[in-house]
Amino acid sequence: MLTTLIYRSHICEHFPPHDLKEMVNAANLKNGQADVTGILLFNGVHFFQLLEGPEESVFNIYQRICEDSRHYNVVEVFCDFAPHRRFGKAGMELFDLREYEREEVLQSVLNRGTSKYQLIYDDRALQFFRTFVEATEKENYFEIPPADSWAFVSDDNSVQSASLPAEITTECSFAFQPIVDPLAQKTVSLEALIRTSSGEGSAAFFSGLEGDEVYKADLKSKKTAFALAGAINVGARTLSINLLPMTLVRIPEAVNFLLEEIEVNGLVPEQIIVEFTENEVISRLEEFTSAVRQLKAAGIRVAIDHFGGGFAGLSLLAQFQPERIKINRELIRDVHKSGPRQAIVRAIIQCCASLEIMVSAVGVEKPEEWMWLESAGVSHFQGHLFAAPAFEGIPAVCWPEMLSAM
Ligand code: C2E
Ligand code: MN
Ligand code: MN
Repeated sequence: MLTTLIYRSHICEHFPPHDLKEMVNAANLKNGQADVTGILLFNGVHFFQLLEGPEESVFNIYQRICEDSRHYNVVEVFCDFAPHRRFGKAGMELFDLREYEREEVLQSVLNRGTSKYQLIYDDRALQFFRTFVEATEKENYFEIPPADSWAFVSDDNSVQSASLPAEITTECSFAFQPIVDPLAQKTVSLEALIRTSSGEGSAAFFSGLEGDEVYKADLKSKKTAFALAGAINVGARTLSINLLPMTLVRIPEAVNFLLEEIEVNGLVPEQIIVEFTENEVISRLEEFTSAVRQLKAAGIRVAIDHFGGGFAGLSLLAQFQPERIKINRELIRDVHKSGPRQAIVRAIIQCCASLEIMVSAVGVEKPEEWMWLESAGVSHFQGHLFAAPAFEGIPAVCWPEMLSAM
């Protein structure tokens, strides 16, 4: 299928721009063999390239382009399918924007078009050309340093473990994962993640439970979470727990139960954050909203978890405003390479800034993901890059340290 891919990237300082033509000639040879055509724009700093051709060839060539050391911060802007090529000349044409007058540059680009119909201005791909040529999105190109410009240094001082007080015997336990502010080198919160008593994950814990048993087990497990948190000595840090929204709706005494267990374990409601995900909320939104009010009235803060994944969406945000939003791992993964993810994450950040909601990112595994998100304004992170969850304890955190002179 005829596939169109657009990316942009940043030229490397050590790459002399007069070598451009040579580079393009060499690339054209390969592109021609693979039946990939297109156009390459250069503005003196950024490349902007459209590739068109058979799906597999386009992806193969793009893969090679990503590995080319003459440019960096390669971001896929657009990937779509079309009935005909927009720029169908053999190989790839280089178009240096610096050689044209500002007023005529876009038209000059469009004049290279080979589409059998006149190129239409509301075509999305061509709209991307317009924004690149007019540089209207430039402030959103966050240039991040390479991954190896940071060392992640493990801080073993934070390590702590605990065992459950003898009087608590349950079929569940918890792992704790820090939520950190890496630049301040501070752990801002600990999230309690449910485990079976032998350490298996949440799916294993909930499997086999049916109907209201799920909600009862979910609520009751928090007794163990608070007991462990008390034993671990969370101190003044906040403690995040997860609850199914329906746990609060189906169990009328849920909020009182939580408050009692918080107190018994020497914690205070103001340090607790309840994270909600998902799905069932929508069907009984009124009851859920009233349970959230109860929590807030008691001093407990609320976060929407997995924001941007499935049901935890914008309409929930219109109904009530949580103190925090956690951006789903699906949006975080390779955000530094994906134009669509960047656009969505920036919109979430902007929306939350207007509502004074704190944003954190979950599932951060790569230095580049973290750096892109810092550039976009996120300062709280949870993920294996900094610390994986520790069973019945607090793990060491790996803090980033900038390595000097590359
Ligand atoms: P969550 O609230 O989003 O918790 C974070 C999950 O992401 C955890 O999975 C954690 O181990 C995982 N994670 C953290 N950093 C990374 C990373 O860098 N890469 C990847 N790939 N994963 C990372 P876990 O512990 O398996 O929990 C899964 C989900 O189960 C949680 O997602 C939460 O929604 C739910 N859950 C956990 N504890 C409870 C609970 O007590 N009650 C309820 N109802 N749900 C819970
Ligand atoms: Mn969570
Ligand atoms: Mn998750």
